[in-house]
Amino acid sequence: MEGQRITVFDTTLRDGEQSPGCSMNVHEKVRLGRQLDRLGVDVIEAGFPIASDGDFAAVQAIAAAVPRPIIAGLARASRHDIERAAKALEFAIRPRIHVFLATSDIHLQHKLRISRQQCLEQAANSVRLARTLCDDVEFSPEDATRTDPEFLFQVLAAVIEAGATTLNIPDTVGYTVPAEFGDLIRNIRERVPGIEKTTISAHCHNDLGLAVANSLAAIANGARQVECTINGIGERAGNASLEEIVMALRVRADKYAYYTAIATEQLYPTSQMLEEITEIPVQPNKAIIGRNAFAHEAGIHQDGMLKNRLTYEIMTPQSVGVPDSKLVLGKHSGRHALSLRCEQLGYRFERRDLDEVYRRFVVLADEIKHVHDHHLLELIREAYGETHRIPPGRVAAELAEAVAAGAEEPRRMFPGGVPAEFSAVNLSSGAAAEHHSEQEDYLWGV
Ligand SMILES: [Zn+2]
Repeated sequence: MEGQRITVFDTTLRDGEQSPGCSMNVHEKVRLGRQLDRLGVDVIEAGFPIASDGDFAAVQAIAAAVPRPIIAGLARASRHDIERAAKALEFAIRPRIHVFLATSDIHLQHKLRISRQQCLEQAANSVRLARTLCDDVEFSPEDATRTDPEFLFQVLAAVIEAGATTLNIPDTVGYTVPAEFGDLIRNIRERVPGIEKTTISAHCHNDLGLAVANSLAAIANGARQVECTINGIGERAGNASLEEIVMALRVRADKYAYYTAIATEQLYPTSQMLEEITEIPVQPNKAIIGRNAFAHEAGIHQDGMLKNRLTYEIMTPQSVGVPDSKLVLGKHSGRHALSLRCEQLGYRFERRDLDEVYRRFVVLADEIKHVHDHHLLELIREAYGETHRIPPGRVAAELAEAVAAGAEEPRRMFPGGVPAEFSAVNLSSGAAAEHHSEQEDYLWGV
């Protein structure tokens, strides 16, 4: 590997978990924590121990179950928070206390009601206390991007003096833009005394859809740690998406001379696991791990792709862990399986049109035995062109509907009872994979 190493700090279990609908129990957090370990993240922010007993227990459990990465616990800049974080991290092999305190005037005046001087002292004192409990202390000046830069530099210098080892610069409200954030990081690197002894980190939110671009700008200007989440989950519009940052660095290594320790082929499995745990679907067109991100791979029978994948493909599905299409429909595949597969490929048919697709499919299956995605797409296009294409964005919702409706259909088709492979559980839940049958592979094996 050439270039400089970027530390990947995953906060799916803390910042991500705080977002609406994303809460996880301890068992789920440990399961995801183990997967983050397989993914190769350097730091797992496992929770905010003071926030609840559940968070405390989760940090403890992850520290015990996942020994390799650094395990971070979040704490406000107060004795009670910091001691609680240290306690939760007691059995971590590589613990990190992550202390934060807002520094922008708007937060100081309206939220904390303290002066700049008090803020400066509280930040330094807190970091000093944390360092008595842990060698690895990260400090975040909350709302850094709306903080007077001169004051920000003073706070950073003070916490370095007090022993902070990583300085994280959060764009808490997702307000900054790449050029501005890059400049801020560069100025910090050039102007804060002692900064060379520490790691600069970026923590970006996606309110303007710029979290990944801002993170990359930070890296280009001296940040060597990025804080991010799987699927970009997080407060409001979310955090910078881990998979996007990692793949941008990897695919455009010609522009970014940096590398991470991420096992990229674990990106898709990790994304899928998070989706399964939180039941929050990934948008179909989400970069890297969305269902349509490699839709052309699923068999668009275009000249270009057939002659050379590189005509449309900047990375392979395998490189991010999207399995090659294993889908093989045969002449015994039912109409329902066919219909579902068509929907997964982005086409939806009403009953009569489906009859026609099915008729052609059976003829083809008789001839060639195994009908792959690209055969099916060709067949659809021959029959109907693009007229039945589902508009992007509606695929996931419609698929969920189709699955729900489909669970009814087999009952009509099999009056004597529904064969196991058509049961609602198998059709509707990726989580049922443990009990999967051959038929289910037909339905979900991509
Ligand atoms: Zn955040």
